Amino acid sequence: MSNQWKRELAKAFKDPQELLAYLQIDPQAESKVAGKPLLSKSNFPMLVPQHFAELMEKGNIDDPLLLQVLPFSHELVQDPEFVLQPLDEQDNFIPVKNIVHKYQDRMLFLPKGGCAVNCRYCFRRNFPYDELGSSKEQWQEALDYAYKQNISELILSGGDPLMMNDKEFTWLSEQIISRNLTANPKVDRLRIHSRLPVVLPARINEQFLATCQSLAEAGVKVIWVSHINHPQEISLTLQEKFKLLQQAGVVLLNQSVLLRGVNDSVEVLEALSRKLFAHGVLPYYLHLLDKVEGSTHFYLNDTQALALYAQLQEQTSGYLVPKLAREEVGNKHKTLYTSN
Ligand SMILES: *Cc1c(COP(=O)(O)O)cnc(C)c1O
Ligand code: SF4
Repeated sequence: MSNQWKRELAKAFKDPQELLAYLQIDPQAESKVAGKPLLSKSNFPMLVPQHFAELMEKGNIDDPLLLQVLPFSHELVQDPEFVLQPLDEQDNFIPVKNIVHKYQDRMLFLPKGGCAVNCRYCFRRNFPYDELGSSKEQWQEALDYAYKQNISELILSGGDPLMMNDKEFTWLSEQIISRNLTANPKVDRLRIHSRLPVVLPARINEQFLATCQSLAEAGVKVIWVSHINHPQEISLTLQEKFKLLQQAGVVLLNQSVLLRGVNDSVEVLEALSRKLFAHGVLPYYLHLLDKVEGSTHFYLNDTQALALYAQLQEQTSGYLVPKLAREEVGNKHKTLYTSN
């Protein structure tokens, strides 16, 4: 059972035509938001696991989940403000392989390139993942560096860090637990930024949960920041997994990206927050889109975003309102926006 997620990933939709046929959508149909489906191969290929496709509405080319993952003609729109590497990470913040160091008490460790889904708005869609080290020696080196920087939190990012297999995740956890015995300060939080379980809930298997439990027992808080943009993504299977993660001591947070046509309405944002909370997940960040090439049709400008955010604040409890944030090059934290 433990490798079920890998088998599911191997069977993911890779051909837009096949996904459209499964969804009973005419390949000539046109989305209001994104234009016509792009059926030819792209250098950022489509990748959509079956579980995620099952959550889409049949016959609806403007389905909010489909819009996030199907290549559309509006990706070809060029705008000088939308660039290949909006955050310029590769030139500035990579002291050793697999590490992005831009924050003070915490550091990003990127164990793996690649994801289980290719989100069309992804700001790392052009990240040089090929340059990531994948040997244990390289990971050791990255951890050596991290432990020398007086951090208290290690953030697993990617790509998608849960592309690690169970053995690798357990190895990494054991490294943290044993290094903590002599470290000062200790790394007492391990944060996992991952969208993988949203598209492949089977990733949350027994071995993963057992490793989370061991970390908890060794005094390391595990935090999973899920990347869910729309309430329809929270399947019954995922809800079960949230429960198991909480039982294993994992704290659940969510971050979303504000996307035109997907979640740019106060109704959807409120429904998302409520559904997350109902299953034990706190809304953490609502990101403004990073201007990556190919994503112009998803973009809302600051005025539009702030108007929406003000409505959300009026409408619901403070803890259901995620922080509205933008990542800016050279900043030691995100830029937060307030509506007044
Ligand atoms: C912003 C960000 C962080 C740092 O997160 P904080 O919650 O602000 O500490 C880490 N990883 C990713 C991918 C981020 O976008
Ligand atoms: S899961 Fe995250 S890193 Fe991967 S393609 Fe989607 S947005 Fe990008």
